[in-house]
Amino acid sequence: MRIDLHTHSSVSDGTDTPADLLRKAHASGLDVVALTDHDTTGGWAEAESTLDELPASFALVRGMEMSCTADGEDGAPVPVHLLAYLFDPSGPGFRAERARLREERERRVRAMAENIAADYPQIDPDAILGSVGTSAGRPHIARALVAAGIVDSVDEAFASLLSRGSRYYVEKQDTPVDAAVELIAAAGGVSVLAHVRARKRGRLMTLDHVRRLAAHGLGGLEVDHPDHSADDRALLGDLAAELDLLTLGSSDYHGSNKTIEIGTETTDPEQYAALVARAGGIGVLAGGQG
Ligand code: AMP
Ligand code: ZN
Ligand code: FE
Ligand code: FE
Repeated sequence: MRIDLHTHSSVSDGTDTPADLLRKAHASGLDVVALTDHDTTGGWAEAESTLDELPASFALVRGMEMSCTADGEDGAPVPVHLLAYLFDPSGPGFRAERARLREERERRVRAMAENIAADYPQIDPDAILGSVGTSAGRPHIARALVAAGIVDSVDEAFASLLSRGSRYYVEKQDTPVDAAVELIAAAGGVSVLAHVRARKRGRLMTLDHVRRLAAHGLGGLEVDHPDHSADDRALLGDLAAELDLLTLGSSDYHGSNKTIEIGTETTDPEQYAALVARAGGIGVLAGGQG
């Protein structure tokens, strides 16, 4: 069984529609894929209906990647991403928090695009917002910068104009990760810290905070991720064993917004089975039943 539990569609900052993402997952030999767009379940319905054309051996895990803040190693808060799997999306409290996160994303993308447009008048903030599916992100600005010839690639945009140190950078207000773990657990979902040692994204969350979350309902750690070194994978594997956490491996596929292909990193079938067994919100969906 080949299992990839972290992917993004054009509903957030990937480039494949949810339907194309599922087709690609199946065509590339995956048996299980999770759709985990940023702060939205907006791609679930299209993914569900695409199952009609896929075999019963193929499974969809409905998920999301939630924007959070945690304790940073230098004492200041750091942004972290929390994967949420198989949660019931209908609760009004959780729904309102997802909507607030998307409003923060839109406000922040608009503010950064306006900052950039002041120096580069060929950049149109309205056009950038118009290119967004449901959940805006810096990759939407990056694509406009590439299209305008201001940078050569999305990676170059992130390393320059869109970086945290850039004069155009604007913060957003994300969910404290302890509250996010509680929201996900209350909705019957399983929470997993995404790419928690991805150093190129900036400062790291403290391991002490990971330990506290594990004692308060965190379900697992994403260990195998394209942005994790071999040493950090080993460290996270040891930490997961110590804390009795699930260990996941996933590509974090974003279509052509990143160079990583779907299925590049995968999750062990036993870990996947344990994740599904732990979830009580909604079920995994199989092909041919959508
Ligand atoms: P935002 O969510 O607006 O803060 O933008 C961060 C998103 O952009 C995350 O989903 C990352 O996966 C993605 N991202 C971060 N760095 C890069 C990069 N160098 N190239 C492409 N996408 C990136
Ligand atoms: Zn993303
Ligand atoms: Fe992420
Ligand atoms: Fe992601």
